[in-house]
Amino acid sequence: MSAAPIRVHFDIAIIGGGVAGLWLANRLANTGYSLALFEAGSLGSDQTIASQGMIHGGMKYTLSGALTGASEAIAEMPRHWRACLCGEGDVDLRTTRILSDHFFMWSSETMASRVTTFLASKLTRGRVEPVADDKRPPLLRTHHFSGSLYRLEDLVLDVPSLIANLAHNLPGRIFQLATAHSRLSATDGDVRLVIEQDGQTIEVTAQRFILTAGKGNAALLQQLGLHQPAMQLRPLQQVMVKHAYPHRFYGHCLGADTTPRLTISSHTTSYGAPVWYLGGSLAERGAQQDAATLIDSARQELANLMPWLDFSEAEWATLPVERAEPLQRNFARPDNAFASPVAGVPNLILGWPTKLTLAPNLANEILGLLQQDGIAPGKTDDVSVLAHHLPRPIVAKTPWDIAFPPPPDDSLNDDEITDADT
Ligand SMILES: Cc1cc2nc3c(=O)[nH]c(=O)nc-3n(C[C@H](O)[C@H](O)[C@H](O)COP(=O)(O)OP(=O)(O)OC[C@H]3O[C@@H](n4cnc5c(N)ncnc54)[C@H](O)[C@@H]3O)c2cc1C
Repeated sequence: MSAAPIRVHFDIAIIGGGVAGLWLANRLANTGYSLALFEAGSLGSDQTIASQGMIHGGMKYTLSGALTGASEAIAEMPRHWRACLCGEGDVDLRTTRILSDHFFMWSSETMASRVTTFLASKLTRGRVEPVADDKRPPLLRTHHFSGSLYRLEDLVLDVPSLIANLAHNLPGRIFQLATAHSRLSATDGDVRLVIEQDGQTIEVTAQRFILTAGKGNAALLQQLGLHQPAMQLRPLQQVMVKHAYPHRFYGHCLGADTTPRLTISSHTTSYGAPVWYLGGSLAERGAQQDAATLIDSARQELANLMPWLDFSEAEWATLPVERAEPLQRNFARPDNAFASPVAGVPNLILGWPTKLTLAPNLANEILGLLQQDGIAPGKTDDVSVLAHHLPRPIVAKTPWDIAFPPPPDDSLNDDEITDADT
């Protein structure tokens, strides 16, 4: 005879443990809500761990020559994150590593004059400053460099440490579930989560379920026979290059397009090897290319932009990945975080931050929806019931640790690398 189902109830159940779900869980826990967060794989597995970690105020969206809706909406974000990093914001990020407290924008050739004029205009004052030749970063301190260089007061974070920090703030509240053995189901209009684990059925109910599963949101809606709010996926293929240069560099190279021609961020494998992670237009065009063709274009792009560096001994790899966003007219990029109730299911909310940078906005939007519906912190069952049956997920491995595993003679093994993460 099978055991009777275990029933647990929370104020809020969050599905998906990327930056969106983890940030939201932090905000809700700080506000006094009881909650559980359920992750199908490892924390941050899809987009968050693949991101370049740039917390930007939207300047890169000004390349078309005007402040767009996107740049207005996120202009305050670096300041918001900085407060959190000092322990003075709405989420405690004091153990998150900052890779860089600025990044650069540079043009290899003469930039379109409207962009130059715009960058120099008063609208951008304080957010972007021209860099004098003697203040250039070591990478660009060569007579071969002939472009214009600007410094942005934005941040770059070490994403694994961000995920670990957000998870660490939520002891006993994060659970791993196997998607093959769990499902959302709707009874009398309200959604609940049913988990089958080791012959035991666990039914989770909540005042509100919140889906922050990135591209997994669409499949979760489908479990309920729903297709709205609809999602769009924006494919990219990033390039990773493992080399021997000591230069850590974070910056956008401007081209003729309204997206940066190339975005470089610098990371380190768990065994200390430097890796440049390349995005921007290269990765957008690269989504349509096979890995070998894209690596050839990346080699060529670096040779054109930085002919004084030699990557002939470097190791290369690519990462195909998709950005998950709410469906936009003409497949446009969304400007803001998106949060919405789900029509027909009163206790369900869905969200996409659309950018790592906008995770705080998404949480604000969702807190607003809860307030609007009068959902206040209430009484709850004991989370230890879940802890008894469900494991705690680890932080996802970085793309560069997957692409460039430690050399065979390296003394570290995989367990030592991943266990430290949570
Ligand atoms: C290559 C790349 C670079 C980027 N760089 C930047 C940047 O520098 N700055 C910036 O601001 N933004 C950047 N972004 C965008 C940013 O990474 C994303 O907007 C953000 O990480 C999305 O977070 P998320 O939590 O919604 O989704 P995700 O990070 O995708 O997390 C979703 C989580 O839900 C889990 N999940 C899925 N299905 C289920 C299920 N059924 N049940 C339970 N869990 C489930 C997944 O395993 C995953 O852990 C970048 C994106 C990409 C792809």
